[in-house]
Amino acid sequence: MNDTSIPEVSTEPEAAAPTRPRFLLREMRSSCATQRIWKWSLPAFAGRLPDGRTYNTCPSAGICQDLCYARAGTYRFSNVLRSHQNNLQYVLDAPREWEEQMTAELKHRRYHPQGSRTHVRIHDSGDYFSAEYLEAWLRIIRSTPEVVFYSYTKEVALFEERVRPDSPANFYYRYSYGGTQDELIAPGHLHVDVFPDEEALADAGYTSQAPSDLRGAYGPETLGIPANNLPAQKRRQGGQTFRALQRAANAQRSARKAQRRGPTPRRPRAD
Ligand code: SF4
Repeated sequence: MNDTSIPEVSTEPEAAAPTRPRFLLREMRSSCATQRIWKWSLPAFAGRLPDGRTYNTCPSAGICQDLCYARAGTYRFSNVLRSHQNNLQYVLDAPREWEEQMTAELKHRRYHPQGSRTHVRIHDSGDYFSAEYLEAWLRIIRSTPEVVFYSYTKEVALFEERVRPDSPANFYYRYSYGGTQDELIAPGHLHVDVFPDEEALADAGYTSQAPSDLRGAYGPETLGIPANNLPAQKRRQGGQTFRALQRAANAQRSARKAQRRGPTPRRPRAD
């Protein structure tokens, strides 16, 4: 695993030394009072590292990129963004060291409280931006069977190829609508969609994720998230779900393509 094998991220100019924090995981503020949840974050979607390299940590983001909660609010505070960029830089510049540190860190006693299991949410922002990065996580997950990991992802093709055939028992994942691979999500697969509000979510027969983030791991097939209270995003989303908006965007793209191709030439009639 090395930088040049990681797509979607330019490798020039030369990287500055990555920051190596003592602990890589941060505790999540969660509505689930009885459980401590830890999280690993990357900067959401596309940007530029302080050393000038560009990145895209969500290569299959679709309409979600304009409605993303992790590209607004506190996620844009310079210290928060910098810390997430440091995480990415560490993965890109020293993937083996990062993997070793993460694996070793998960043995620390703070992740092994008496009487309950530790949960780690991989990515409250960002996604599995390359096969090599996903494989690193799968090794980490397999080497820490006493910890439960969970994730939402829009990398449907990658997961169908690399995770679904032999998914670790301590890894829960679900596909998240609003990406360019929505059409690959098989009916009946665990998924999550973002709704304008709780009422719309309940009307569609979905279960809200709001009472506990762990519903991402243990919730039913149809999980819903009410849109964050960010006025600009709410306006853009209107009364639609991410799934519906992505479907409409795909239809528009197909129509534009068809228009560019022009009318299909008529076949000569046989008579
Ligand atoms: S994939 Fe997730 S983190 Fe990335 S842009 Fe979409 S909503 Fe944001």
